Amino acid sequence: MASYTYETHEYDVVVIGAGGAGLRATLGMAEQGLRTACISKVFPTRSHTVAAQGGIAASLGNMGPDSWQWHMYDTVKGSDWLGDTDAMEYLAREAPKAVYELEHYGVPFSRTEEGKIYQRPFGGHTTEFGEGPPVQRTCAAADRTGHAILHTLYGQSLKQQAEFYIEYFALDLIMGEDGTCQGVVCWKLDDGTFHVFSAKMVVLATGGYGRAYFSATSAHTCTGDGGGMVARAGLPLQDMEFVQFHPTGIYGSGCLITEGARGEGGYLTNSQGERFMERYAPHYKDLAPRDYVSRCMTMEIREGRGVGKDGDHIHLHLNHLPAEALAERLPGISESAKIFAGVDVTKEPIPVLPTVHYNMGGIPTNYWGEALNPTAENPNAIVPGLMAVGEAGCASVHGANRLGSNSLIDLVVFGRAAAIRAGQVVDRTKGNPALNKAAIAKCFDRFDGLRYAQGGIPTADLRLEMQKTMQADAAVFRTAKTMAEGKDKMTAIAAKLGDLKVTDTSLVWNSDLMETLELTNLMPNALATIVGAEARKESRGAHAHEDFATRDDANWRVHTISRVDGNQVDLTYRPVVVDPLTTEVEGGISLAKIAPKARTF
Ligand SMILES: Cc1cc2nc3c(=O)[nH]c(=O)nc-3n(C[C@H](O)[C@H](O)[C@H](O)COP(=O)(O)OP(=O)(O)OC[C@H]3O[C@@H](n4cnc5c(N)ncnc54)[C@H](O)[C@@H]3O)c2cc1C
Repeated sequence: MASYTYETHEYDVVVIGAGGAGLRATLGMAEQGLRTACISKVFPTRSHTVAAQGGIAASLGNMGPDSWQWHMYDTVKGSDWLGDTDAMEYLAREAPKAVYELEHYGVPFSRTEEGKIYQRPFGGHTTEFGEGPPVQRTCAAADRTGHAILHTLYGQSLKQQAEFYIEYFALDLIMGEDGTCQGVVCWKLDDGTFHVFSAKMVVLATGGYGRAYFSATSAHTCTGDGGGMVARAGLPLQDMEFVQFHPTGIYGSGCLITEGARGEGGYLTNSQGERFMERYAPHYKDLAPRDYVSRCMTMEIREGRGVGKDGDHIHLHLNHLPAEALAERLPGISESAKIFAGVDVTKEPIPVLPTVHYNMGGIPTNYWGEALNPTAENPNAIVPGLMAVGEAGCASVHGANRLGSNSLIDLVVFGRAAAIRAGQVVDRTKGNPALNKAAIAKCFDRFDGLRYAQGGIPTADLRLEMQKTMQADAAVFRTAKTMAEGKDKMTAIAAKLGDLKVTDTSLVWNSDLMETLELTNLMPNALATIVGAEARKESRGAHAHEDFATRDDANWRVHTISRVDGNQVDLTYRPVVVDPLTTEVEGGISLAKIAPKARTF
């Protein structure tokens, strides 16, 4: 058995992750006087949330009529009827409150002439329950909304005396014998020491796993560490087959051009100069939802109408927009286009391609952020002591497809909800439970095994193999054949984790070892994605199955629950929550309005 010494820290709450979700949870916990620690493997303001450009959705109605019921309807339809209705109602209802809180905390939103928060149109956000014109619902701080939110929340959390453990890498959860989560084991990256955190509540806010793919808009740190920790604790993941491709990643680098660019009037063309989205989505055109636009672009390329010398991408035009508008509303992406595509957006179109952008699936939770461990008897059974929020979690408000600007609002609404709930369930008067020593020892054994791994495959090689396989076989369009092949390949690739070779055994700034740990986290996420996709015999949201081209509500309006053990995935299913929180008489939404129907634009 490996022997490592460690320091123990005790808190009421430990939040793992300092992106928008982790910081909003941390702030809410600390505001209530809970002793709160926030752990992050990168400096808080370097979390991926900093890259969010376009904005945050809330029905403030600053630019024209809007209502939370319309926002809820759009989210239900956007999810392709896979989201949980109670959570989607909670999101749409609480969104304005959460945005005004951000404003009061100090987020420097862009403003209208009268000084109200500026809102722009985004794909899939409409009026009159999808019958009216697009709505301007997305609140923005120019094209640096995530940056503004993150800096504000970090400052506010410090003000509330939350304690930060920065550049600490969370290795594994400590689960008690009774199934309660008791804390987490961490490795401090800059000095090689180990730290055990004991807590009455652990909140996973570790972000997505975009880096399971070869081309992604997400940061290299988005490695699904929360999903990996949960899988190793014997807990499940949900709806992992739903991976969002953003229509406009810059061709080559994958760097994102926000949907706000189309919100401000940008449009896509093919090699014939045709605005092809007018053909596919006569009503919403370039502002149809992301899964739909990505598929249309892929179809244009497949049918020989792609641009460039290989005919393998599409053009995004902003060059018809006034230069002053671009400088004011989209300064960041003008810069990205220059750096990553060598394009002056005021003069030329930007070469773009659908790129992996967001993981709808994650750790299943209820709308208070409490982690679920569904059983046949109780599909909504909670895991005591564990919560998950943000992209790591699956509440599920995005179902099979997330609407643009609905993630930032998810981070703050559910970060806040988790804090409200923790305030109710964490007993401040009780001591922390005695830690399960066997669980801690098991974590160090795994760590030590990887540190001294002397197999045949360098981490970077195995990671590339995984990324290329996922890119090819769990793509925008999927067939029974590609997914079956992908499942076999990924099962074999995951088995090779036992044959890794790590060259650096030091404990200080050892990026080889850290990337190896990250790969062991990416792998269960990737495996659950391809296995869940292969099993789902329908098309819904981001899951476009060419052999089963339509949605099948009778058989498949269910959440996929996957338990990953090594290279094996066990699938079960959990019913979708179809009841809203309030009825129509109570001011809620009419059930007839949100009943499943074909998703057209
Ligand atoms: C380029 C880009 C633009 C986007 N634009 C928008 C937008 O305009 N509007 C919108 O709604 N959504 C947008 N999204 C989506 C949205 O930004 C993300 O879904 C969201 O920011 C995720 O936030 P998070 O708090 O869940 O995680 P992240 O911001 O990814 O933060 C994860 C945190 O977890 C920590 N962490 C992870 N693993 C460990 C570990 N093992 N130990 C310790 N700490 C760990 C990290 O250090 C980090 O602090 C965009 C996404 C991208 C990639």
